[in-house]
Amino acid sequence: MEIKLELTKNPKEKPASENLAFGNFFSDHMFIMDYEEGKGWHDARIIPYGSISYEPAIMVFHYGQAIFEGLKAYKKDSEVVLFRPDENFKRLNNSCDALCIPRIDESFAVEALKKLIDIDRDWVPDAPGTSLYIRPFIIATEPHIGVHPSNKYHFIIITGPVGAYYKEGLNPVKIFVESHYVRAVKGGLGEAKASANYAASLKAQQMAAKNGYTQVLWLDGIERKYVEEVGTMNVFFVIGDEVVTPALNGSILPGITRKSCLELLRSWGLNVSERRISIQEIYDAAENGQLKEAFGTGTAAVISPIGELCWNDKKLTLSGGKIGELSQKLYDNITGIQYGILPDQFNWIVKV
Ligand SMILES: *Cc1c(COP(=O)(O)O)cnc(C)c1O
Repeated sequence: MEIKLELTKNPKEKPASENLAFGNFFSDHMFIMDYEEGKGWHDARIIPYGSISYEPAIMVFHYGQAIFEGLKAYKKDSEVVLFRPDENFKRLNNSCDALCIPRIDESFAVEALKKLIDIDRDWVPDAPGTSLYIRPFIIATEPHIGVHPSNKYHFIIITGPVGAYYKEGLNPVKIFVESHYVRAVKGGLGEAKASANYAASLKAQQMAAKNGYTQVLWLDGIERKYVEEVGTMNVFFVIGDEVVTPALNGSILPGITRKSCLELLRSWGLNVSERRISIQEIYDAAENGQLKEAFGTGTAAVISPIGELCWNDKKLTLSGGKIGELSQKLYDNITGIQYGILPDQFNWIVKV
């Protein structure tokens, strides 16, 4: 499919790298493509970033048929690269299936993304730790009241420069173990990157924040016993010489950082398991001196060491509230590959 191009006549001023933070600035262009039943995906175009007008009746506003992805582009010595973009579009298609949205052509999506990034190449920041955040998403655009899968969609990619997640390197976070609210259950949308999952997470997140916690650790939706994931990240624990992460069970989001960590850990010959793990087991391991460290994994922060857990009023300090050894090693290796400081031994990097 051809991609039509309309360049902006009013390029915006780029923010200084110290002011970037996360999610506040958007590049000059966006990619957009339409879907209509009978016609398929069509009209791929790159146009100036800006408002789109929709009828108030479009279905995404009423029934929440929306999915998204998140990845980053990195710059080193004027070369711009992406980290495993094929994995993101593969996952987007899995999310499509879960929400009755028509699939997209994955390799076309990677090509479209590369073209978009190439046009906004100057928007990829190069200060240490900064990157260009990329947000592909699909929304239902049929104007209709009444529940059924929409017969029209928009697939859109917007991008924007973001700062280093942690200004002074890694920083341990405090996590509230959620025993009341649930994010997802098996048979639901948990393994899809659906906007609805985030709507469902806000209440618990707000309560945890009020109590001084950065994120919540979700337990399974039925027994509230088994660990699922942390807010917007997957989670790992080091117990004795075993590195454990909850097995993908249908209600956990299959993170690409999780997958990359598993591949790295296995390549280092460590004892790694994907299995069911209860929150009680983690507290028991801490009591027996076997809990070495815990960390979250996700695109935004890469690795987020966990310094404290709070479960039913029982507080647990991990790694003395400091950064664990494995957390640091994974962070150094993944960011090293992303920024071209370490060799790309797994072929994760795609040049723009
Ligand atoms: C996106 C996301 C993750 C992390 O996935 P990555 O591909 O590693 O960024 C984890 N949990 C949830 C709920 C997510 O939405």
